[in-house]
Amino acid sequence: MIKNLVIVGGGVAGINAALSARNSNKEVVITIISLEYPYRKPSLPSLIAGKIDVKDILIYQDELLSKENINLRIGWKCEKINGEKRELIISSNNRREALGFDSLIFASGGVPIRPRIPGVNLENVFTIWSLKDALKIKQKIQRAKQVVIVGAGFVGLEVAEKLRKIGLKPLIVEKMPRILWRLLEEDLSRIIEKRVEHFGVKLLTGRTVNEIYGNGSVESVDIDGEKIKTDLVILTAGVLPNVDLAKSIGVKIGKVGILINGRAKTNVEGIFAAGDVAEVPDFISGNYLYMPVGSIAAQTGKLAGVNAVGGKLEVKGFLRVQIQKVFGLEVGVAGHSIETAKEVNIKAKTVSINFEKDFKGHIPIIEKFNPKMHIILDEKERVIGGQIVSVKYASSYLYGVIEAIRRKLTFGEFLEEWKSFTSIFPSFITNIVGT
Ligand SMILES: Cc1cc2nc3c(=O)[nH]c(=O)nc-3n(C[C@H](O)[C@H](O)[C@H](O)COP(=O)(O)OP(=O)(O)OC[C@H]3O[C@@H](n4cnc5c(N)ncnc54)[C@H](O)[C@@H]3O)c2cc1C
Repeated sequence: MIKNLVIVGGGVAGINAALSARNSNKEVVITIISLEYPYRKPSLPSLIAGKIDVKDILIYQDELLSKENINLRIGWKCEKINGEKRELIISSNNRREALGFDSLIFASGGVPIRPRIPGVNLENVFTIWSLKDALKIKQKIQRAKQVVIVGAGFVGLEVAEKLRKIGLKPLIVEKMPRILWRLLEEDLSRIIEKRVEHFGVKLLTGRTVNEIYGNGSVESVDIDGEKIKTDLVILTAGVLPNVDLAKSIGVKIGKVGILINGRAKTNVEGIFAAGDVAEVPDFISGNYLYMPVGSIAAQTGKLAGVNAVGGKLEVKGFLRVQIQKVFGLEVGVAGHSIETAKEVNIKAKTVSINFEKDFKGHIPIIEKFNPKMHIILDEKERVIGGQIVSVKYASSYLYGVIEAIRRKLTFGEFLEEWKSFTSIFPSFITNIVGT
C-alpha cells in the first residue's frame, strides 16, 4: 500500500507528476522537494530581455497545490537517499531532515553543459538554465554592448532574438557547420540562418570558441584565432541529466539519463523518473534516446505520477514533438530527423513536400505562409518524422505527420489522407481554406 510519495524536483515533470498522482489517488501523502519555485523555462529569454517579470512566468501557484493537498517544499535540496531504509535526507540552509517514502519520483531535471574552454569561469560568462541564471543575466545585460552566444540550438536562437529586440547585436558561434543540425535537414537550417542574419544577428557556423579572455570579467573571446571583444558570454550548449542521486541507489543509467520504461518506471521497485533527468524508449525504434523537451517532461511526469501511486498507465514509447518560434518563423519537428534516425540505427531518407505541385488549388493559404516541409521515411517508406518551417500554422502541418507516425502510415497513405483533409488536418485550418 503506497502511503507516501516523494518527488524530487518541482519543474514541469515534478508538478505534472504530483497533480496526476493526486488525480489517481486521493489518500496518498504527496511531497515535492525542490530547490526552485516552478516556472516556465521557455520564458527565460524574454525575462532576460526585460519583456516580462518573474511573476509572469511562475506556474502552479501555491493555492492550486495546497488545494490538491500537495506539500511543496521550496528551497529544500535532496542531499542523499538511503534506498534500503526508503528515506531521503533533505536540507535547507542549516536544517536537515529525514523524509520517508514508499514511492519516489526523480524529476530533478538537468544541468547545463559548460564547455571546457579556458576562461569559462570568468565573471559574466553565463549559462541560461535556471531562474537564478536568467536574473543574473538580466541585471548585466542592461550595461552590455556586445554579447557572444555559444551554441545555435533553439535556446541560443531564442536568446539572440530577444536580445536583438532590445537593440543588441549578438554574435552566435556554432561549432557545427549549420544551425539545428540534429533536428533539421540542411535546406531548412539554411532558411533559418538567412532569417537570423536578416534580423541583424551575426552567425558564425563551423567555428569554435577556443578561449575566453578577461581580467576577472570577460573581455573577449578567441574564435579560431580571431579575437572578438565582448562584455558577456551566454553558453547554450545543451543539458545533461542530474543522475548522481539515482545512481547512488542502483538505478540504471543509460547513455546519459535514468532509464525508464513506458510507465516511467526505473529498474528499482517503487522508483520512477520523469522529464530531463530521464532517457526514454523511442516510439519508433524502441531504442533509448535522450530528449530533454517540455512535451516529454509533461508526458513522463503524468505517467510517473499515476503509476507511482498504484495506477496503470503505459505508452509504447515517446515521440519528440517541438514547435518553436524563431525570428518570426515557426519551426516544427516531430519524430526523427535523418541524424536522430541514425542514432537509433534506422536507415532513413527525406522526401520534400511539394506544395506548389501537389497542393496547388487545394490549400490557398499555404502559398501565403511559404511553408517548407520534409517527411522522413524508413526503408519500408513509413513516415518516421517530419519537419516544417513556415510563417504560420506549423503545428497544423505537423499534426498530420504525428498521426502518420503513430499509425505507421506509408508516405503514399499519408499524402492521400492529408490531401483529403479528413481525419488528419485540424478543422480550424480546413475552415480557412478558400477564405
Ligand atoms: C531557456 C530555455 C528555453 C526552453 N524552451 C523550450 C521550449 O520552447 N520548448 C520545449 O519543449 N522545451 C524547452 N526547454 C526545455 C524544457 O524547459 C525542459 O525540457 C523542461 O523544463 C524539463 O522539465 P523538468 O521538470 O524535467 O526539469 P526542470 O524544469 O529543470 O526542473 C527540475 C527541478 O529540480 C530541482 N532539483 C534538481 N536537483 C534537486 C535536488 N537534489 N533537490 C531538490 N530539487 C532539485 C531543480 O532546482 C528544478 O527546479 C527550454 C529550456 C530552457 C532552459
